[in-house]
This record gives sequence, C-alpha cells and structure tokens, in this order.
Amino acid sequence: MDVLISGAGIAGPTLAWWLLHDGHRVTIVEKAPAFRAGGYVIDFWGKGFDLAERMGLMPRLERVGYHVNEVRFIDREGRRMGGFDVSVLDRVTGGRFISLPRGELARALFEAVEDRVEAIFGDEIASLEEDRDGAKVWLASGQERFFDLVVGAEGIHSRTRELVFGPERRFECFLGYNFAAFTIDGYPRRDPDVYLMYGEPGRQAARFTLYGDSSLVLLIWRDPEGGPIPHDLAGQRALIRSRYAGAGWEVADFLAGLDAADDLYLDRVSQIRMDRWHDGPVALLGDAAYAPSFLAGQGSALAMIGGYVLAGELKRAGDDIPLALANYQRRLFHLMRSKQNGAMGMASTFVPKTDFGLRVRATAAKLLGIGWFADLVIGRSIRDQIDLPDYF
Ligand SMILES: Cc1cc2nc3c(=O)[nH]c(=O)nc-3n(C[C@H](O)[C@H](O)[C@H](O)COP(=O)(O)OP(=O)(O)OC[C@H]3O[C@@H](n4cnc5c(N)ncnc54)[C@H](O)[C@@H]3O)c2cc1C
Repeated sequence: MDVLISGAGIAGPTLAWWLLHDGHRVTIVEKAPAFRAGGYVIDFWGKGFDLAERMGLMPRLERVGYHVNEVRFIDREGRRMGGFDVSVLDRVTGGRFISLPRGELARALFEAVEDRVEAIFGDEIASLEEDRDGAKVWLASGQERFFDLVVGAEGIHSRTRELVFGPERRFECFLGYNFAAFTIDGYPRRDPDVYLMYGEPGRQAARFTLYGDSSLVLLIWRDPEGGPIPHDLAGQRALIRSRYAGAGWEVADFLAGLDAADDLYLDRVSQIRMDRWHDGPVALLGDAAYAPSFLAGQGSALAMIGGYVLAGELKRAGDDIPLALANYQRRLFHLMRSKQNGAMGMASTFVPKTDFGLRVRATAAKLLGIGWFADLVIGRSIRDQIDLPDYF
C-alpha cells in the first residue's frame, strides 16, 4: 500500500515504523519546516514502554531519559512542604518506567524511519477526496497525489479531522485549564531528578532540571471560560505574564526566562472525543482522534499503541482497508475512552482552587510516602487494561 501519514509527532512515526516492517510505502507530511522537538517531560511506562522496546528504542531512550526520585511540593519561599518518593513507580512497573522529554521520544521515533520514508516538511494536506479505492490528496505546495490510505496524526488540532469530519469544536472537550511549557537555558538553580511543584489557588508552576544546563518549566492555570489562545508569540507571552503576575516561589524568574525561550508550547487542556475515527480511506490516529489530555499522563504511549494496532489490523485485513479501520477502532475504543474518563475525573481537583485544597493535596501526597498505600493506589491507576495482539 501507499500510505500518507500527516504529522511527524509520536503517533505518525510509530505507525510508519510498523507499516515499513510490513513492506508498505510510506510518505510523511509534516507542517513544520523541520522536525519539531521540544516539549515537556512525559512519563513513559506500560504498553508504550513495551512497544518502544520491541522497536529497539529503549537503549537510546535510557540515555536521554530520567529516573525521577521525588515529587516535591514547594511553598512560596521555596521550602519543602510535602511530596513523595516516586520509587513506587519503579516498584509497581518492575523498573519499566522512565521520564522522557517528549521531543526526545518523537526524535527517536522519527529517526528510526526517516531514511525509509518519503518525508515532506513544511507542507500539509490542503484538500482530499475519495477516489477509486483510495484518496486523491492535494498538498498546500500544489502537489497532487494518490494514496490507498491517508492517516491524520496531526495532534489535537488536526487538519485532516477538520477536512473530513468537521470543525474541532464538535469534538473538543475543554477541561478548564491552559498550560505552557518552555525551557530556560542556564537557569541557576538545579535539582536533578526532582520534580518541583508550587501551587497557588487556580495556578501551578513546576520546574524540572534537564541535562546540559537547561531547565523545563511547566505552568498550568485554571481558565473556566476557555478563552482563545493567541497565535502569536508576543500574545502568548503576554497571556502567561498576566496569569502569573505576583506569583511566589521562583515564578518571577521563570517569567524573566520566558522571553529567551524559543520552544514555548501553550495550549488549552482538552480532550478529543469522537464516535468514529475513520471515514472511507481516511483514519485518524493519536491525539487527533482520542487525545486524553495531559491529565491522563499517557498520551504519547496511547498514540504509540494506536500506531501499532492500526498497522497490525491493516496487516491482518490484507487489502480490506475498511475492515482494518473498523477493527482498529473496535479494539481501542474502550481503552481510549476509559483513559479519557479517568483524566476527566481528575480535572476538577488537578489545580486546587483554594489554599485549603492545596493543603489537602499536600497531606494526601504524604500518604503516598507509605509504601503499601502508594503501591496500591498507583499500581491500580497506571495499569493498561489491554492485551496487544502479536501482529508482527
Ligand atoms: C504538558 C503535557 C504533558 C504531557 N505528559 C504526558 C505524559 O506524562 N505521558 C505521556 O505519555 N503523554 C503526555 N502528554 C501527551 C503527549 O505529548 C501527546 O498526547 C502525544 O504527543 C500525542 O501524539 P500525536 O503524535 O498524536 O500528536 P503530536 O505529538 O502533537 O504530533 C502531531 C504532529 O503533527 C504536526 N502537525 C500539526 N498539524 C499538521 C498539519 N496540518 N499537517 C501536517 N502535520 C501537522 C505537528 O507539528 C506535530 O509534529 C503530555 C502532553 C502535554 C501537553
């Protein structure tokens, strides 16, 4: 088959890898002019970890990843006010748990396929229509191409989804927060392997020390109205400044570092909920179809699982693409919905609204310091309720 994958994030290159494994021809079109790295640190375990291992990526991911020791809650003056030791995660996963900059995972996946696919950067699908047993696609650059299958793996703001299924607002489920992630080079304070979190009612800030001399900053704040996110960098910086004016701990230093950060990522915290992930020769994959939001803590792994299962069902169905797409959705729908429901259940308390709520959270976190309790609670919440078929 000739397959067009739109989006070189996490889901797209994973699908490409397994399609190549099965002998298909793959074209990847990516809107950004060059490969997009950057981003926050994600936690990686479960079936995503298993797949990365099967794809031979773990030695590389171990080199660029982190083993976080502690999540530490900080007060206004920078003093420790609570937290927990995260060795529980190593324990309940049998050591199969790693924290990774999202960009490093994406880069490892893309580099595993880039020599074997046709990769087109700085372009995107302008329009497409069903044609014979596939799809005719017009790229924004003017190229007209035919593919047996087109897969939209463009993340939460998917263009293919809009072209084929309708506007984003029909599928977006906003969870009441905005977030921003960026790195600061040369930040003076360094706390390796500790995730530092500071909260005030309605807004939260976190810092994580990266290799080299970089530090990652993650800001999450409540926005019940879900106002629009500015598209321009100056507008985005101004929005962040206005939401974090007067905040304590090191937040003033973060805001000072914001101007020099060239990797600012700012968005609403939303899910994508669709009843159908495919239509004719077009399928959606990853966040484009079933973004769980970062509150699920597992979007990258779910995007990888999606890529593997889609490729596997295509292999099983032979030439019958509609059957493969139906089976892809059938096999994964329940898993994705349950992860989304879990994340949605956390949304109301994720950033406490009051000082009292912040204290309750710090106290609850202390319970996670008790080994058996942490094993029970965390062990249950991070299990992936799916057995992945051995397609290949
Ligand atoms: C703050 C935060 C923390 C997170 N924490 C975790 C975590 O702990 N664990 C975890 O597993 N996941 C986490 N995630 C989620 C994870 O990053 C995403 O769910 C995952 O990257 C989804 O992969 P994707 O390939 O579907 O989309 P993306 O990674 O968003 O990739 C989409 C790609 O498509 C490209 N693109 C966009 N539009 C077009 C277009 N029109 N044409 C062509 N290309 C296009 C983009 O440039 C991008 O390269 C977190 C997310 C956030 C925001």
